[in-house]
Amino acid sequence: MIEFDNRVAIVTGAGGGLGRAHALALAARGAKVVVNDVGTTGGVVGADSPAARVVAEIEDAGGEAFAYLCDVGDFDSVEQLVAATVQRWGRIDILVNNAGILRDKSFAKVSLDEFRQVLDVHLMGSVHCTKAVWPHMVAQGYGRILMTTSASGIYGNFGQANYGAAKSALVGLMNVLAIEGERKGIRVNALAPTAATQMTDGLIDEDILGLLTPESIAPGAVFLVSERAPTKTILAAGAGVFAVAHMKETAGVYLAEDARSPEAVAARWAEISDTSEQVSTASAFDQTKRYAEIASAEIGLAL
Ligand code: NAD
Repeated sequence: MIEFDNRVAIVTGAGGGLGRAHALALAARGAKVVVNDVGTTGGVVGADSPAARVVAEIEDAGGEAFAYLCDVGDFDSVEQLVAATVQRWGRIDILVNNAGILRDKSFAKVSLDEFRQVLDVHLMGSVHCTKAVWPHMVAQGYGRILMTTSASGIYGNFGQANYGAAKSALVGLMNVLAIEGERKGIRVNALAPTAATQMTDGLIDEDILGLLTPESIAPGAVFLVSERAPTKTILAAGAGVFAVAHMKETAGVYLAEDARSPEAVAARWAEISDTSEQVSTASAFDQTKRYAEIASAEIGLAL
């Protein structure tokens, strides 16, 4: 049974959509939840705000939560959010970086301001929240952090250069933090959801809207922040389907020094890009080691 008794979670952008579903699911399993959403009022939250309504839903179901409005793009506010959480409940076990916005336009038309706005919320917002909780998790020797990436970042999508860049950057952030957090009991994963929310309003075919509920994704998010979570994993989820996305590399082709030309790369392209013997790589240095091993075996150099 996956439970969160005595665990404290912060969910950003949890006033609606996926964040709300994650917050409700965590609270239902015993987590104390900070429901963050955008705003400038800090601890003061109007009862009719979306975040306050999510808190009321959690409390009505017997759970514990409080709302904290702030822009995750503003580090000072995020530090205050984290301080308020620690003051109230003494610890932070789980961070779900979920807050997000879209400013979709083709690359030719998107302004640099619109590009930066998206990076500020998705990438820097996640960096800010993670930076602010990290020392608490290190001190506890325990933490679970979830990034929200997207198929747009992993596979690409027309009109989302800003969003795709931000979402892909979150995978890079996860990769490094999972390595840095490993010996500190901190596991870092990424969720790539697809759901019908205000963000995707008008973008998803009407006949499949009913399948793509935020609630169909929450079990994956909850698992990724549980004690049993993997680390450095991208879980894609939608319509009740869960799948793991991987970054892999083809086996590789060694070109001898006197045959290293663009023409040789072109001539061997079928082999270079052959996916039949793909490998996973644990870290950047592991890749370097693998190349050095292949090259030294080819030239008969003992390592
Ligand atoms: P949503 O618009 O319903 O939820 C996003 C929430 O983030 C909103 O409540 C919004 O007010 C809040 N928010 C925006 N800017 C903020 C800020 N600066 N600080 C704090 N809160 C802020 O959209 P959603 O579909 O539930 O998206 C949740 C996350 O999932 C996003 O990161 C989104 O990019 C990601 N995602 C969604 C889909 C999808 O199909 N819905 C697909 C891939 C990724």
